[in-house]
Amino acid sequence: MTKLLIVEDEADVRELVALVLREEGYAVDEAVDYTDGLALALTNDYDALVLDVRLPDGNGMDIARTLRRESRMVPILMLTAQRTPSDAVRGLDAGADDYLGKPFDVTELKARIRSLLRRGGPSRTDQLTCGTLVVNRLTRQALLAGERLTLTTKEFGVLEHLVAHAEQVVTRSALLEHVWERTRDPDSNVIDVHVARLRAKLQEGEGMPKISTVRGVGFMLTTST
Ligand code: CA
Repeated sequence: MTKLLIVEDEADVRELVALVLREEGYAVDEAVDYTDGLALALTNDYDALVLDVRLPDGNGMDIARTLRRESRMVPILMLTAQRTPSDAVRGLDAGADDYLGKPFDVTELKARIRSLLRRGGPSRTDQLTCGTLVVNRLTRQALLAGERLTLTTKEFGVLEHLVAHAEQVVTRSALLEHVWERTRDPDSNVIDVHVARLRAKLQEGEGMPKISTVRGVGFMLTTST
């Protein structure tokens, strides 16, 4: 049974999320505040969490941060108050896998949850794909429509991280931490330089992966159709 937790103090939003997800066949636990939410998330093995940012006694991002610190890799969807980049960036940096701005469409909520569950939590696969792109983490090779891409170590690292989080927004600081190991100034243009080089190596066309810029947040790898 797929088990989810929604942490949200606003009753109408919480009940809607729980209802919609139960209709999808998931078991859904509900928590109305930070304390209860964190306690539940730490004691149970959920398949995914939906966390509101603003809670009466704390911040949903701190729940995400605490879980990641404890190496709990449960997928997390953060509910942000507005479609503003700042909350989204903070949420992703706190360890959330995705975010959804309120008010949201229930169809989008269901799709985001399905996507989080598909990616799964801790299981890491050696071969990642996005459309015609295949990235192998063991051989550190990338094939685009069967043709091997010539990439530098850093370019491979950026591409690997984008493919591992395909169809999701990846922040600049996440890329910096993943590929450059030590935290640099997130405004540094080193990321843009590498993304520009990668874009030049990825061809356009049906099924081809494409790196989009998400203004003020980061990047997203998608498959063009
Ligand atoms: Ca709230």
